Amino acid sequence: MTLIDGKQTAADIKKEIAAEVEKMVAQGMRRPHLAAILVGHDGGSETYVASKVKACHECGFESSLLRFEDNITEAELLKAVDDLNNNPEVDGFIVQLPLPRHIDEQRVIEAVDPAKDVDGFHPINVGKLSIGLPGFRSATPAGIIELLRRYHIPTRGKHCVVIGRSNIVGKPVAQLMLHKGDVGDATVTICHSASENLPEIVRQADIIIAAVGRPGFVTADMVKDGATVIDVGTTRVPDATRKSGFRLSGDVDFDSVAPKCAYITPVPGGVGPMTICSLMLNTLQAAHQRNT
Ligand code: NAP
Repeated sequence: MTLIDGKQTAADIKKEIAAEVEKMVAQGMRRPHLAAILVGHDGGSETYVASKVKACHECGFESSLLRFEDNITEAELLKAVDDLNNNPEVDGFIVQLPLPRHIDEQRVIEAVDPAKDVDGFHPINVGKLSIGLPGFRSATPAGIIELLRRYHIPTRGKHCVVIGRSNIVGKPVAQLMLHKGDVGDATVTICHSASENLPEIVRQADIIIAAVGRPGFVTADMVKDGATVIDVGTTRVPDATRKSGFRLSGDVDFDSVAPKCAYITPVPGGVGPMTICSLMLNTLQAAHQRNT
């Protein structure tokens, strides 16, 4: 069994990005600039945004963080989005989700200029991904593909079962696995909460991508020998032994599943660090597009 080390892979990619940024600066271009909008004080969102700011620093990017209280109106938030759309110093930006309930998330996503939508959530980028056109790819799916590529895991003709059909993970990763060429060319099945005989379907998979949000959902009896297992799940479960009071748990029952696998991602340290890396790669791409 090979453990897929997302943390190390992400560190390698960030070094590659930083080297490219220094080349850009030496050629007189300005540093890529990623901005983030954070509304409220949700613990998970604070952590994610802090890691994004740290990753910007490691990659040599400019970063800015716009904070708003959770009583911000939708109109005020849309105005902040519009300001970033029109700010020539900003290459790309994200609006950290979830947003407070009184704000229509989809309206905010659609207000972001697709050319600055480095999260890849705007319908234009989602559509481009779906038909294989260049555009910003949703960060977690792009990170999973990069892990498969860097570990030379064969996908062509393989049966990939994705568990979960969310717009940010399940559906886009299934599309990418389906694309022709390179990492792709897989036969893809998507399972969800209404799927019948789910364990039987998952047992047929050469590659399992679990994006369910239920700790330990994938058990050893669902995994065939020699499969590759990508665990996207990151559920906070209470843990009194940790300073934070919780630990992150994946969707896969790691201890029983790992011995059966050819490759498996741990949680934490698997897909998570790659998500932030993909965001950095998208921002680099945005900066190149604005410089050309
Ligand atoms: P989501 O929007 O809640 O989607 C979960 C999917 O799982 C849904 O499609 C749901 O089916 C399906 N599901 C739920 N219970 C099921 C069951 N009993 N049997 C079969 N399918 C079931 O979640 P998400 O945003 O895709 O995220 C999934 C997990 O990945 C979460 O733990 C999240 O925290 C994590 N995540 C991690 C990263 C990272 O960077 N590591 C990034 C994004 C998400 P229905 O559609 O039928 O409801």
